[in-house]
Amino acid sequence: MGMNNEIHDEKPRENCGLLGVFGVPNAAQVIYTGLFALQHRGQEGAGITTSDGAKVSSTKGEGLLSEVFTVRPPTALPGHLGIGHVRYSTTGSSRPQNVQPIVFECLDGLWALAHNGNLTNARRMRQAYQEAGAIFQTSTDSEILMHLIADPMYRTRNRRVERALSELEGAFSFLIMTPHGVLGARDRYGFRPLSIGRLGQGYVFASETCALDQVGATHERDVLPGELVTVDEKGIRSSTFCEPISGPLGQCIFEHVYFARPDSIVFGQNVHETRIKLGRRLALEHPVAADLVMPVPDSGNEAALGFSLASSVPMDYGFIRNHYIGRTFIMPEMAQRHDSIDLKLAIVPGVVRDKRVVVVDDSIVRGSTCRRRINALRKAGAKEVHMRVSCPPVRHPCFFGIDFPSSSELIAAERNLEEIRNYIQADSLAYVSLAGLLSAFEQPGDFCTGCYSGKYPAPVMEEHHKKDLEKT
Ligand code: SF4
Repeated sequence: MGMNNEIHDEKPRENCGLLGVFGVPNAAQVIYTGLFALQHRGQEGAGITTSDGAKVSSTKGEGLLSEVFTVRPPTALPGHLGIGHVRYSTTGSSRPQNVQPIVFECLDGLWALAHNGNLTNARRMRQAYQEAGAIFQTSTDSEILMHLIADPMYRTRNRRVERALSELEGAFSFLIMTPHGVLGARDRYGFRPLSIGRLGQGYVFASETCALDQVGATHERDVLPGELVTVDEKGIRSSTFCEPISGPLGQCIFEHVYFARPDSIVFGQNVHETRIKLGRRLALEHPVAADLVMPVPDSGNEAALGFSLASSVPMDYGFIRNHYIGRTFIMPEMAQRHDSIDLKLAIVPGVVRDKRVVVVDDSIVRGSTCRRRINALRKAGAKEVHMRVSCPPVRHPCFFGIDFPSSSELIAAERNLEEIRNYIQADSLAYVSLAGLLSAFEQPGDFCTGCYSGKYPAPVMEEHHKKDLEKT
């Protein structure tokens, strides 16, 4: 297990965030504002592409939104429609050309697309296009949709975008900008979220409803699995690009456990409330005599509150997160000291000293950060440290857009509970059960739990690596 010298949190990395608007003056300003609410979904790159119906403008680059858009508001991007993207690479490494939206020129003008998810048949289709002479500009799976849309097989026929989307397998929420409108689509299993809101006379698409709130839009509904929603001068209309699946949906349960912001409604359910339910369930399944419950902030906050409410053990904040230490601030020499210093979380010694503490987190992935924090709590005087986790052990890879470490790095992949407890050096360790996790949802059958159960709702590739599509 490669557990040393980690510079980042051990949590799986964010996937991507999408924001699109139509019929709004200063579309770029709205997209820029909304993307800020989605920055937690990706920090490697950001981009906005807009159109005024004639001219298409685009700005994108590597880094945070605030690093890419140094001129604010982004006045160089005129137009009343556009799409934006914040990126974490789940397929394709962090290269400038992989930053989205991807803009491409078809016979009928400039188009752009932005993707959240992971296409499981991209490699096969890419190879077929390359053998026919096509040239790809990125190493992302997303680009394959550009080739399908431009392909005469689809371009010259009715329902061109629907036909192109129907060729894709795996997980996707797509925003597509045509010369005249914005389209939003979700794969047939509904792996990744995508919502629609109204802003004045216009429309807004967003990965999470927190971005609709941020721009002052109302949340109207979600794009349905297998649906393509088109918004243009003629208004809004819906079409389907595939037959409905015969079984349950595959909405990613990890969006609720960890990724999404707690103020979002994801897959029809408030994330904050789900996490409180998970904390309550955790307390019922795995009670422990303790003086204090404390979250690993920020994503453990609600589960710790739920644990405290259900157990009547008081909650306090023994960890303080440093919100100002970011990716760019962690210098190599700091990384070398990272084994002994937690750059992101500090301990409030007075809170934990001489206490039996329950630490609630939303997941343990590699285990090394967890172990370091438990040791730090003991050094700060905690008498006992009991670890409680608000989801089951992550034992399997994700093929649908979440970048977990490989199985060899997942601490739960080949270790039992006692071995994990021993590794992280906790006095006790317990995870919420799979049944307990599912009990927090109104429609539990419509969620993917593949990384916990190994049972995936859709066919998976035999193996997937994020740099699969790169030649060098
Ligand atoms: S395998 Fe896990 S992370 Fe991936 S889509 Fe399914 S629930 Fe989400």
